[in-house]
Amino acid sequence: MAEAPLLMRLVSASVAVADRAGVIIRDIMKKGELGIVEKEGKHDLQTEADRSAQRCIVASLSKQFPKVAIIGEETLDPADVIPAEYLEEGATAEVLSKTCPANMTNVRDEDIVVWVDPVDGTAEYTQGLLDHVTVLIGVAVAGRAVGGVIHQPFYNFKTPGATLGRTIWGIIGVGTYGVEKVLPPAGKRFVTTTRSHPNQTVRDSVAAMHADEVILAGGCGHKAMLVIEGVAHAYVFGSPGCKKWDTCAPEAILHAMGGRLTDMHGNDILYHATVKKPNAGGVLATMSDHDWYVKQVPESVKAALVA
Ligand code: AMP
Ligand code: MG
Ligand code: MG
Repeated sequence: MAEAPLLMRLVSASVAVADRAGVIIRDIMKKGELGIVEKEGKHDLQTEADRSAQRCIVASLSKQFPKVAIIGEETLDPADVIPAEYLEEGATAEVLSKTCPANMTNVRDEDIVVWVDPVDGTAEYTQGLLDHVTVLIGVAVAGRAVGGVIHQPFYNFKTPGATLGRTIWGIIGVGTYGVEKVLPPAGKRFVTTTRSHPNQTVRDSVAAMHADEVILAGGCGHKAMLVIEGVAHAYVFGSPGCKKWDTCAPEAILHAMGGRLTDMHGNDILYHATVKKPNAGGVLATMSDHDWYVKQVPESVKAALVA
């Protein structure tokens, strides 16, 4: 049988690698030695889980796809020795069983950038809010988010005896797998936003949505999941704090199931290797009525969030 197209092999490998990273993240929590350091202050933390999971993901994907650009959130010592057991080279049959979209069959290594957030929701990881933690691997082709993996290492952690962890993957034109889309209650408006990085423009943009309920939650991946599973109608983040590695995978997965993720102006986010890392225009994600939410964003917030 001919080898599957590059995009399918890459997403297939990324699912296996995200699962492996999830094991590492759980093991570090079990041991309890989190090795917390502050990056740009006390609101920007890095733990041993962030470091080890990134080593696992980047080493595993670079070994299999040496010509693909891979950008991880964490700055690590390139001389780090990667433990052999961190190298994951498995493939995911479910991904390889799907047909690659026709416009993606000829994608070359140099067209792709992989954006890696080894632990999204690090603050929540250190605080025991484990269901807010995700591993994010996003695949951009020619600057657009087209494929993604969201792994939830602690999915089910409150259910005694349940198997921990769940992985969701999606490719635009193929679909999203590993989760059922649930529509949020009709006639209500539930908005989710950051619990650990609020500021005035975040508060102003949430207030402008006139929500019946505001759900404060950690992580970009987790909040995208709240939209996917119908817990929230919209994820509204009127701040430049989220980076490309936060949004690439959620954007592709939402888009693959009919939703949208843009900046607060309603503009698509670009993911070329040379782009600035922060999403200066903020983040807005919905499963429907996206334009309505864009229209509510106050002019003062739009002016502050220049893309
Ligand atoms: P949150 O919704 O606050 O959990 O943030 C989602 C993602 O964006 C996480 O990876 C955060 O670390 C990152 N983030 C958001 N705001 C900031 C900020 N002000 N400083 C650093 N990282 C941020
Ligand atoms: Mg993150
Ligand atoms: Mg992170």
